Amino acid sequence: MQYIDPHIHMISRVTDDYHRMAQCGCVAISEPAFWAGFDRGSAEGFRDYFHHLVEVEPKRAALFGIRHFSWLCINAKEAENVSLSRDVIAMIPEFLQRPNVLGIGEIGLNKNTKNEATIFQEHMDLAAKTDELILIHTPHLEDKYKGTRMIVDMLKNDTRVKPHRVCIDHVEEHTVKLALDNGFWCGMTLYPTTKCTPARAVDIIEMVGTEKIMANSAGDWGKSDPLAVPELILEMRRRGHPETAIQKVVFENPLEFFRQSARWQEPFALLNFSK
Ligand SMILES: [Zn+2]
Repeated sequence: MQYIDPHIHMISRVTDDYHRMAQCGCVAISEPAFWAGFDRGSAEGFRDYFHHLVEVEPKRAALFGIRHFSWLCINAKEAENVSLSRDVIAMIPEFLQRPNVLGIGEIGLNKNTKNEATIFQEHMDLAAKTDELILIHTPHLEDKYKGTRMIVDMLKNDTRVKPHRVCIDHVEEHTVKLALDNGFWCGMTLYPTTKCTPARAVDIIEMVGTEKIMANSAGDWGKSDPLAVPELILEMRRRGHPETAIQKVVFENPLEFFRQSARWQEPFALLNFSK
């Protein structure tokens, strides 16, 4: 089955992962800007990183017939440094019109601090002024509910934000409704240990249905599985979910969300199919 992985950090993965993802049916991915495993020393470090996201990865993905898209921001961990964050936010517009950029992300909260909230709102402001889609990172573990609540409140307080143009990621059983009931899209992250396992993700789908929900591997340099979305496909099949429902979660939903960006380009597989 063709699928899209809407959240994966390919900068930290080897080329063989692209090959295996393509073999499993992956036709497009999106790569949010994130923490690099260390705090960068200057805004110039981010310039090089953004260059990598808009130039290097699309070429590496295309070798395997996969469309690569990216999102730009300074992540919540490094957002604790407000002056560095402002320098990075000021640089983002230089890259926004690059052909593979879908919007601003993954912005959000890490430890739910005041500085993180300030920088989150400044990213929101940039997204509103430039009419970009937004991809949201929610904190992990015990701070998740509180952080998601704070994020939803900030989004709702800004009347310029259109919920259908925002995806709240890393939702779990106790936060999924906060996202959906407020009109946002949501993403479940499938991890071998923390976050959702494929089985938990299918439990969530059985609880809330298949509208406005997608699943991703969030593969990065840590313990993660770039083939996590195909694992979800297998788990939904094992439980007898119809193929149409599976396809909606792993393909049609991300497609519908991403198509709202003027810079979305159809996967090569879809273009060739209609010829
Ligand atoms: Zn991420």
